[in-house]
Amino acid sequence: MVDSDHSNMQCSICLSDQPINSVKLPCNHIFCFLCIKGHQQSDYGDSCPMCRAFISADVINNMKLSDVIDVTESDCEYQWMYRGVRGGWWKYDTSSNSELEDLYNEWMISQHSDYDSDLDSYASDDPVPEILIGATHFEIDFNRMRQINRDTKYARPIKRIKSDKLDEFGGIIKGISGLSARN
Ligand SMILES: [Zn+2]
Ligand SMILES: [Zn+2]
Repeated sequence: MVDSDHSNMQCSICLSDQPINSVKLPCNHIFCFLCIKGHQQSDYGDSCPMCRAFISADVINNMKLSDVIDVTESDCEYQWMYRGVRGGWWKYDTSSNSELEDLYNEWMISQHSDYDSDLDSYASDDPVPEILIGATHFEIDFNRMRQINRDTKYARPIKRIKSDKLDEFGGIIKGISGLSARN
């Protein structure tokens, strides 16, 4: 392979030269954490997309923030978070975070334009905001601040907090998108 340094840093799943929260598999191939997590749910999930080496599910399930080669920090004014299954809050990865913020701003504008003062309610014919994280589609309910797994309908609370107010956030922040900050 030519220019191995460069090709090492590309995620072969999303083809980005700047993988988000890049992790290295035992075979030394590098992917965005959410890309390889999404791949894990596919029919070929137990093998590396590059070299077909076997990947134990534990390798990906047990990855922590400390395994990330280069943690991608968000420079967004707001940080979005979702509730963990066992409590606490996970930050969304920087890409999903920007996407959520954009959707939220679009939603806010549509809410104002759709407001029907006679009915004292909002029009509901707008498409449901949706984001794709890894291989999973989530519907976002900004009214009730929830993300809903489109397939399982499992809903989790979400939050939007000013990035510079995160220190004052009373809840426990566990890490980023399933990557635990704890070792
Ligand atoms: Zn990727
Ligand atoms: Zn590999």
